Amino acid sequence: MGSRSGLITIGLVVDTAEDQAEAWAEWLKEELSRGLRQDFPRFDWRLSVLRRHDFPKALPKDPLLLLEFGSDVKIEYNLDFVLVLTSYPLKARFEQGINGVPSNLLETAVITTSKVVENRDREHVQRALLALSRHVLGHLWGLDHSENSVMRPRKFWTGTGPVDWSRGEKRQIESFLMEVADPRLEETAGAARSRWRFYLQVLIREKGAIARDIFLFRSWLMMLHLGRFIAATAVSIIFLFLSAEAWEMGAAIQSFWLDFILVGVILAATLSLYYGQNLQGIAASDRMMEQAVRSRIVLFGTLAVGMFAFWVNLVILSSGIIYLLPDSVLCGWAGLGKGMELPVFHYAKLMATFGILASAVGGNLEEEQDIKAVLVYSEET
Ligand SMILES: [Zn+2]
Repeated sequence: MGSRSGLITIGLVVDTAEDQAEAWAEWLKEELSRGLRQDFPRFDWRLSVLRRHDFPKALPKDPLLLLEFGSDVKIEYNLDFVLVLTSYPLKARFEQGINGVPSNLLETAVITTSKVVENRDREHVQRALLALSRHVLGHLWGLDHSENSVMRPRKFWTGTGPVDWSRGEKRQIESFLMEVADPRLEETAGAARSRWRFYLQVLIREKGAIARDIFLFRSWLMMLHLGRFIAATAVSIIFLFLSAEAWEMGAAIQSFWLDFILVGVILAATLSLYYGQNLQGIAASDRMMEQAVRSRIVLFGTLAVGMFAFWVNLVILSSGIIYLLPDSVLCGWAGLGKGMELPVFHYAKLMATFGILASAVGGNLEEEQDIKAVLVYSEET
C-alpha cells in the first residue's frame, strides 16, 4: 500500500481576494521549505499555496472560523498541517491584539500579516513573519514555550529575537514528525470498514499521542474560561446543600452506586456538551480518515477529562463547606443518629456529582463559539 517514506505536507491557505496575503504565502512557502529541508533533511517536505474562493469573508476575521476552515481544507487535500494566512486583523478572544492562533487539535494554525507589516522595513517584516510562522508550527509539532528560541512568547512580532528552534527542540520535532510521516491508517490494508472498529483501531494505534494531546490541552484549565458554566454549578451546589432531601438521598445511596452514577453523569455531561455545542461538526469528514477520527477522539477526551477535573475541584470545595457547617444539623438532615460520624467524602462526592449534572445544562447556555475556542485554541499569540 501507499508508502509515504517520510513525506510531510503543509498547505498555506489564502483567500483569492487577498493579494497581499497571497504574495506573503508564496514567499513563506519558499522560505519555510528551505529552512525545514535544512533543519530536518530526513523528511520529504512538500509545501503548497492553496488559493480559495470560499475563504470565510466575515469581518473581523474570527480565528476559530479560519481554523475550522483550514482543518476542512486539510482533510480535503489529505495534508498533514495547514497554515491559514490573512492580511486582515484577527479577532482576539482571551488576549489583546493577536497575530496568530495555533490549534494542536486541528493540526492547523492561522496567522495574520496585518500587524507584522507595520514594521519599519521589509527585512524586519520578513523576519517577523518567518518567526511567527515557525512559532505556531512549533506548537503544532508539540513544542512548549522557551526563552532561548523562536518559541519565546512575544506580544509584538517585530523581527528582533530568535527565529530558529534550539537543538533540543529540533530533536523533539523530529521524533514528533516521525509518527506523522507514517502511513495513515486508511492507507494500510488492515483498516476496518465499519465505523466503530475504525475508531477503535485509531484509539489503539495512537493511544500515546492521543493521551499526550488531551493533557497538552490543559483540559483541567478549560473550565476556568467558562464563567456561566461555573456559575450554574455554584448555584446548584448551594441549593443542594440547603435541601434536606439531598442529604437524605445521600444516606440512601451506597458508595458503590454513587461511583456508578458518577461515571454515568460525567459521560452524560460530556455528551450533552459535545452535541449541545455542535462540537461534532469539528473535523467532520465523509470518509473515515485517521486524522479526522483522531481529532474527534481528542476533542471528546479533552471534554471528559476537563469534566472530571472539574468534579475533583467540586469535591474539594464541597468537603470544605461540609467541614464548616455544624455537624449536628447535617447529621439531622442525613438522618444519622447521635454519635454517628458524618461520611464527609461520601457527601462531597454526591454534591459534586449532582453539581456536574446541573452544570452540563449551564454549559449549553455558554456562547457556542467561546466553548469551541477554549477547546480548539492552543494559544493566542
Ligand atoms: Zn506560543
